[in-house]
Amino acid sequence: MPVSSSRPTPQPHWVVHMNRRNRSWSFAAIFLTLSSHVWLQQLSVWLYPALAISFLVWPQLAYLRASQSENSMHSEINNLVIDSVIFGLWIAGLGFPVWVTFILAISTSINLMVFRGPTGLFQALFALTAGIVFGGLYAGFRFLPDTHWVTTLLAITSISLYLMLVGYVSFSRNQVLYQSREQLRLTERELKQQIAENRQLQEKLQDQANRDPLTGLYNRRYLDDSLTREMARCLRQGDPLSLVLIDLDRFKSVNDDYGHNTGDEVINQLGLVLTTLSRASDIVCRFGGEEFLVVLPGTGLEAAEARAEEYRRMFESTPIPTEDNHLSVTLSAGVACSYREIAPDDLIRLADQALYQAKETGRNRVVSQAPLTDEVETV
Ligand code: GH3
Ligand code: MG
Ligand code: MG
Repeated sequence: MPVSSSRPTPQPHWVVHMNRRNRSWSFAAIFLTLSSHVWLQQLSVWLYPALAISFLVWPQLAYLRASQSENSMHSEINNLVIDSVIFGLWIAGLGFPVWVTFILAISTSINLMVFRGPTGLFQALFALTAGIVFGGLYAGFRFLPDTHWVTTLLAITSISLYLMLVGYVSFSRNQVLYQSREQLRLTERELKQQIAENRQLQEKLQDQANRDPLTGLYNRRYLDDSLTREMARCLRQGDPLSLVLIDLDRFKSVNDDYGHNTGDEVINQLGLVLTTLSRASDIVCRFGGEEFLVVLPGTGLEAAEARAEEYRRMFESTPIPTEDNHLSVTLSAGVACSYREIAPDDLIRLADQALYQAKETGRNRVVSQAPLTDEVETV
């Protein structure tokens, strides 16, 4: 399928629009000034149409030229250079009247300097000189420095208005720049805030993924990672690590007699007891439905047993309010302790065996396994 080759001309650069307005007004002022000079010095009437072309028609042509160009900014800079040539032609053509020479030379130099810095100044002076040379060659080099006071006044007014225009343009561009910077700063602040919020959300989600929604305790998923890590750390440091596996006694009947909500309340209460009595370094997890596991890094068997006993006693003496009474539930716990390398699942299995014995021997009690040490292994 043939592809259309006509491409839309890009939007002209904002400078092109600005220069059209500025050039039209300032060239009109120059037209007035130079016309007064031609009139008051009684120069040739043919100069009027030439002035009109240079200072009234050319600004519009310059705009058309730049706005239809592919690279409008580049064309506009060329327009400024053409301005300088035109000014040079008039300076030489009129015989270097001082005030006229001054306002034309200074305004074209400032114009190009605004856009191109010192390079622009050299460009302006070069183009101005070229215009002067052509103008001089065409009209002959004469030196007629005087201007009538009316022309001088018009020249002073024109250059003053022009300089004020330059000042105003630079002020409004600074305003735009300031606003853009402020906007940028605001966007940056918003972005930083968003990043911080995202990070917080991520951390919250990560934490939520590691916690049991009912009790807020760590879940099995978190336990799997942290138990392996803690066991390795204790082994490295030569410290023991103990596990307390807890199961509620006859919990099914609690659900049956008081309802699932009360059952949940009991589970919650046990979670509270466990966190209240544990250290910050311990890891308290909801292991399954009504089973809990507490990892005690750096804790030997005796201390772990004592802790399990504290859990048991405190929980037993914490009544759960029900609709008509207070309910007392008990727990059984199995303790396992290791001083040597062992797979996390094997240590949990040992704690489970102890828990089983606690259940078998009457419930509401703590049973512990003999600690696993290297000596035990070698015996
Ligand atoms: P045992 O002393 O031998 O442990 O008796 P038990 O009745 O506690 O034993 P079992 O493990 O058979 O019963 C556990 C019950 O816990 C079964 C299940 O309905 C209940 N359960 C598990 N998770 C939840 C929970 O999140 N909320 C409530 N309310 N009940 C739960
Ligand atoms: Mg159970
Ligand atoms: Mg149970």
